[in-house]
Amino acid sequence: MLDKRAFYINGSWVEPEISNDFSVVDPSTEENCAVISLGSQADTDKAVKAARGAFESWMFTPKNDRLELIENILEEYKLRAEDMAKAISLEMGAPIEMARQQQVGTGLNHIKGFINVFKEFQFDQDLRSDTPHDKILYEPVGVCGLITPWNWPMNQVTLKTIPAIAAGCTMVLKPSEIAPLSSIVFSEILHEAGCPPGVFNMVNGDGLGVGTQLSSHPDVDMISFTGSTRAGIAISKAAADTLKRVTLELGGKGANLIFDDADEKAIKNGVLRVMNNSGQSCNAPTRMMVENSIYDKAVTIATEVANSISVSSGHETGRHIGPVVSEIQFNKIQNLIEKGIDEGAKLVAGGPGRPEGLNRGYYIKPTVFADVTPDMTIYREEIFGPVLSIMPFDDEDHAVELANDTNYGLTNYVQSEDDAKRNRVARRLRSGMVEMNGLPRSSGSPFGGYKQSGNGREGGIWGLEDFLEVKSVSGWSN
Ligand code: NAD
Repeated sequence: MLDKRAFYINGSWVEPEISNDFSVVDPSTEENCAVISLGSQADTDKAVKAARGAFESWMFTPKNDRLELIENILEEYKLRAEDMAKAISLEMGAPIEMARQQQVGTGLNHIKGFINVFKEFQFDQDLRSDTPHDKILYEPVGVCGLITPWNWPMNQVTLKTIPAIAAGCTMVLKPSEIAPLSSIVFSEILHEAGCPPGVFNMVNGDGLGVGTQLSSHPDVDMISFTGSTRAGIAISKAAADTLKRVTLELGGKGANLIFDDADEKAIKNGVLRVMNNSGQSCNAPTRMMVENSIYDKAVTIATEVANSISVSSGHETGRHIGPVVSEIQFNKIQNLIEKGIDEGAKLVAGGPGRPEGLNRGYYIKPTVFADVTPDMTIYREEIFGPVLSIMPFDDEDHAVELANDTNYGLTNYVQSEDDAKRNRVARRLRSGMVEMNGLPRSSGSPFGGYKQSGNGREGGIWGLEDFLEVKSVSGWSN
């Protein structure tokens, strides 16, 4: 079993102040695979102090020095890609090939994307051409607490650490205690890349411990959080007394509006998109809404696609899906599947229990419900497993009404060959992102939600600006 008890503080690996062991479980086997420590207030204070100590000099480093560090991180990240893929696969169950390509790949793309944004970004700007003595200075917010989940670990860690470094902030990362191994590799990468002591610190811990300590800490200026809406609310409350900036990336319940003129592949792609990463993506299109005239056909196709997806260990090569992350998530998803059946949704693929032949590991059958209605729990609650809900709609107005009938507002999807209709619908959807006709949003576009999906925007120039203060100065001499 791996011993990963140490924290990365002020440029070194240090033992916890008080020992508090926590086992990391391999979801593919249910075996303990590593032991970490859950940090205490003393560990949090030590890391915050290191970050505060480094801030005064780091905020004034020339832009080129920060750029060089991020470019070094990119090179180290590439060198450690295989270690990273193995850590992610072990801690959260992603099939190893998927971990290599998608999980590690997304981190790589974010680092590259921020390098491009950072190179272009002007930290000193003129207010207007007719105000020669006014200057707008973009400055780092300060010491940041970065709290991340387990589902796309390097996606979220790079979306926070890299722009924070670029902005001139210093930071304490608290990764998910369920999937901490990838962040330990990431800390090693930053160390090897030459990150100055105190700029980046990493303390493991749970939400009630280190998570709350960071959120309420008087010497932390900002919390950047990705995770559940429940924790986002708790963090906002804990941060209120110190009025720190809080940016939130929370859950979702995306609608996928499939009009009768959509490309045939839209249904298949929609199902695969939900099942990818075993359904553990906040932007998954989990509510498939299909125009009446093609509804029956869509249900048939979705059933066939779900039945064709194989489920297997994260340690095996191949294009299957892996387990879900933990026993708690497994039980939560099983309960929601049972609820779907009890509340009258039509089960057309999968269902309760493990897939045949898999008796150990948190494996879920790829599941599809048809005839789901807005009063059902599975229509409203984020399931965070490989479970798709399908329902019919009558016309454009009805489709928009159903899509917006949720507390969430992260990503919605539209499939139609009618250009004008697609654009009209995109404007009416209350979500931070709309993806249409299977076209991915390009690198450098902002990721974030409306309503209870949060308030932050990660990626691109918006992701950098989240970590910046705006200072307005008069009497500036050019
Ligand atoms: P979670 O909210 O339980 O945990 C996320 C992180 O927050 C972990 O590091 C955890 O230790 C910490 N945490 C938990 N309670 C806390 C508290 N009271 N104070 C401070 N920190 C606390 O979520 P999870 O189960 O790890 O992740 C799944 C959830 O994250 C899903 O709801 C998913 O939709 C959401 N998510 C959102 C995005 C996004 O960008 N919008 C991305 C990924 C995941």
